[in-house]
Amino acid sequence: MKTQQLGQFTIDRVTEYEGAFAPLKNILPGITQADIDAHASWLRPAYLDEQDRTIMSFHSYLIQTGRHRILVDACVGNDKERVHRPGWHHAQFPYLQSLAQTGVAPEEIDFVCCTHMHADHVGWNTRLQDGRWVPTFPNARYVFAQTEYSHWEKTHREALARGEPSPNHGSFADSVLPVVDAGRALMVKDDFEFEPGLYLGAAHGHTPGNCVLHAHSQGRRAVFSGDILHTPAQLINTDWSSNFCFDPLASAQVRKKLVHDIADTDTLLMTGHFPTPVAGRVVSHGDHFRFAGADPLAT
Ligand SMILES: [Zn+2]
Repeated sequence: MKTQQLGQFTIDRVTEYEGAFAPLKNILPGITQADIDAHASWLRPAYLDEQDRTIMSFHSYLIQTGRHRILVDACVGNDKERVHRPGWHHAQFPYLQSLAQTGVAPEEIDFVCCTHMHADHVGWNTRLQDGRWVPTFPNARYVFAQTEYSHWEKTHREALARGEPSPNHGSFADSVLPVVDAGRALMVKDDFEFEPGLYLGAAHGHTPGNCVLHAHSQGRRAVFSGDILHTPAQLINTDWSSNFCFDPLASAQVRKKLVHDIADTDTLLMTGHFPTPVAGRVVSHGDHFRFAGADPLAT
């Protein structure tokens, strides 16, 4: 994705990894082989490889508003202990190089906004320095929805009391708590406004405090949708929640509402995991929907 202009806001993508991930039927328990076969003509090869693995991207968005520089979601991170995810374990992704290509240094980020606290959305909150996890963006306030934080903080405490690992592959312990300990966390309500035209919206379901980020500027609109959708295959049937959803029914309701709200409008969907093009519009297609990639955004 080249730099996109949304009114006065400039949006860049900071990519960590793009490629094959888990099989689609593992990600979406509701989808059948018959569904995949019926939609193979557009699912392959862009969204599905020969082994039916889902093609996904892991990226952040950098929004520059003129007043603030805001990083949305923070991918997997480097050097993390992720023993149950071999591709993430002690990873060495060129993420900071990707950020450098935007011309913005980590010190210049004003806000980090995690849509939720899964391991692939908080990783770059911290980096390893002299054996300790320190904030990667030392001058940023890290915006955490209080509902989301409270849920995982309780889960973390209970897990440790039982002698079990910290939740989300250990990412709460190594990528969230060090930010809080460093005094950089900003606990907010679900409708927190960064500035006029840029604000959170509750989208609970994927996780208990999951949020999306809305952007409006000069008549242009975008939604940073995090994990409301993992793949365009979910536009075939918005009831198909992912295997990673905390409350699949609530997640489906949120997905359905978002898709219906923005379908056939100019609102850009800034997806959390769609492969290139990661941003686009939702369009109706018979009895379901499709994704119309729009990179780079025509202005
Ligand atoms: Zn994710």
